[in-house]
Amino acid sequence: MCLCPIYYPSPVDAWSRNLALVLAVRREKLMLEIQNLTKVYEGGTLALNDVSFTVDDGEFLVVIGLSGSGKSTLLRCINRLIEPTEGKIIWDGVDITQLHGEELRKVRRRIGMIFQHFNLVKRSSVMTNVLSGRLGYVNPWRSAVGRFPKKDVEKGRSCLERVGILNQAYKRADELSGGQQQRVGIARALMQDPELILADEPVASLDPATSHSILRYIEQLNREEEVTVLCSLHFLSLARAYATRMIALKDGEIVFQGLPTEIDDDRFKEIYGEEAIQVEIR
Ligand code: ADP
Ligand code: MG
Repeated sequence: MCLCPIYYPSPVDAWSRNLALVLAVRREKLMLEIQNLTKVYEGGTLALNDVSFTVDDGEFLVVIGLSGSGKSTLLRCINRLIEPTEGKIIWDGVDITQLHGEELRKVRRRIGMIFQHFNLVKRSSVMTNVLSGRLGYVNPWRSAVGRFPKKDVEKGRSCLERVGILNQAYKRADELSGGQQQRVGIARALMQDPELILADEPVASLDPATSHSILRYIEQLNREEEVTVLCSLHFLSLARAYATRMIALKDGEIVFQGLPTEIDDDRFKEIYGEEAIQVEIR
C-alpha cells in the first residue's frame, strides 16, 4: 500500500496562488505604449510622424529634442489635451485615444501634468490651486463654490509640505517665485495620487539651481513612490542627470531611444544639429 501523502490544494491555496500570479502579471505589464502616433495640425504641420515607444512602470523617461521637435505635442496627446491624427496610446491595456466623457476623465485622474509655465490660477491662493488637482474627484457643485471636503484640505496641506511650501499655502499664487510656483504645480499633481506624471519642460522657465531642486522633487516621487515619469527637457545635461532612459525627437520623429550614457558627441549632433554645442546646467 502506498503511504505517500496526496496533497489536495485547498481553495484558499488556489486563490492565493492566483492572486500571486495576477500580481506578477500586473508588475510585468507595460504601462504605456505609444503606437504609430502621428499628429498633423490644421494648416498641415506634421508635428509627430509615426512615433512608437513604450514606457515601463517606474521609469523616468526623458524626451529631448530641439524646440519644435514635437515634445509638447507628444505629451499633450497622451492625456488627450491634443487629439492625435493617427495611432494608438495604450494605457494599462486600454486605447485611450478611443475614450470619451467619464471614461476619459477617469484616466486623466491617474495622470498628473506639470507644465513649463506652471498653469496656475495666478489670483487664487496656493491652496486653491493645489485643491484644483482634486477636481476630478469632488462633486462639481462643491468645487464650483470653492468648498472642498476637509480631508482634501488636509491632503493639500500634506502635498504642500512635501514640496516644502506649506508656509505659503494662503498666499496668492503670483506672489511666489518661479521655483515656488512650480512646486505648487507638483503639489497639485500630487493631489491626484498619480500613477504617471507628464512633465512638459518643467524647468525651462527656471534658473539652473532651481531647475535641479524641481527635478529632484520629481525624481523623489519616481524613486520613492514608483510614479512613472515622462518628462521633456531641453538640456541634455539635465536629462543625463535624471533619466533612466531617453528618447530624442527630431522633426516629429524618434531619432534615438536608449540610455543617457549612449549619447556620445556624434549622437548629440544627430539630435541637435552639427552646429550645436553642449551646455552644462549645474
Ligand atoms: P516642442 O515642444 O518640441 O517645442 P511642439 O510640439 O510644440 O514642439 O511643436 C511641434 C511642431 O508643431 C512645431 O513645428 C510647431 O510649430 C507645431 N505646432 C505646435 N502647436 C501647434 C498648433 N497649435 N497649431 C499648429 N502648429 C503647431
Ligand atoms: Mg514644447
